[in-house]
Amino acid sequence: MLSLSIIIPIFNEEENIRALYERLIQTIASLKLTDFEFIFINDGSKDASISIIKSLATQNQSIKYIDLSRNFGHQNAVFAGMQYATKDAVVIIDADLQDPPEVIISLYDKLMEGFDVVYAQRITRNGESWHKLLTAKYFYLFLEKLSDTPIPLDTGDFRIMTRKVNQTVCEMPERNKFLRGQIAWTGFNQTYIEYERQARHSGQTKYSYPKMFKFAMDGISAFSNFPLKLATWMGFLTALVAVGMFVYTLYIRLFTNNYIRGWSSLMVTLLFIGGVQLICIGILGEYLGRVLDNVRGRPPYVVKDSNFPNSSK
Ligand code: UDP
Ligand code: MG
Repeated sequence: MLSLSIIIPIFNEEENIRALYERLIQTIASLKLTDFEFIFINDGSKDASISIIKSLATQNQSIKYIDLSRNFGHQNAVFAGMQYATKDAVVIIDADLQDPPEVIISLYDKLMEGFDVVYAQRITRNGESWHKLLTAKYFYLFLEKLSDTPIPLDTGDFRIMTRKVNQTVCEMPERNKFLRGQIAWTGFNQTYIEYERQARHSGQTKYSYPKMFKFAMDGISAFSNFPLKLATWMGFLTALVAVGMFVYTLYIRLFTNNYIRGWSSLMVTLLFIGGVQLICIGILGEYLGRVLDNVRGRPPYVVKDSNFPNSSK
């Protein structure tokens, strides 16, 4: 029997915490686990989340919290939980009950069969907007094509992993986290189970479109250099077109009389090359910005308060 850490990132989830806690406790009871910890990471919530968590912690010794100094984003919050986790196996779960806590039972049982990672793959996703589903679907297909590491489709961070995998990911110094990819990258013995993703218990998604875009770019830049190569290819392509245009222009100038015309082709070429250059600079910028993030070497999160005995990490 493995002891279990359950990591729960929290950003303004005051209406979900108690319901989640009840269902987690029931799940732990069905697993007959005595050695476990719930790690709530408060990611700069503006609502009553942290006081609810602290009051739960007074009732139950197994409840740990890490109160971050501000909002560091979902991935960094989960990473904080991973660094603090002390048990044999680690579960990551969302706080909004979209990932049903009961699924942990199947995750745990599967892990016990001798796997190192068991991720939960969504066969349906209820209560999410069509544009979120559409963008997510194509993003993951795109990432799968680009990435050298096979990153499972239709999975979030909801999963269980052994301490070994958890520690391996904790030791990765990269600043822009894409945990589901990093975990896939570690190798070991990985498998999945299927589940039905539920609608949010309460409240709205905490992933705004800018956050989703950043997350998507983190995923792509962490697992593929293809966009950089694409910039080179686009450069070659436009150079090729430019050579064609050069020959054509010379031909018009030397062998015909209507060489004044051609303003539109000039504009089209100018805009085309300008556009391609801007896209390439943008791609470079996305990578360069992340290199800079890593060079700065700032910590991924800052802890304000915690009830872990040794919380000076
Ligand atoms: N979350 C977080 N920090 C953030 C955004 C989200 O800790 O900046 C937490 C949030 O409270 C939830 C989980 O991450 O427990 C997943 O977020 P959400 O449900 O909003 O994402 P979605 O399911 O809509 O993709
Ligand atoms: Mg959610």
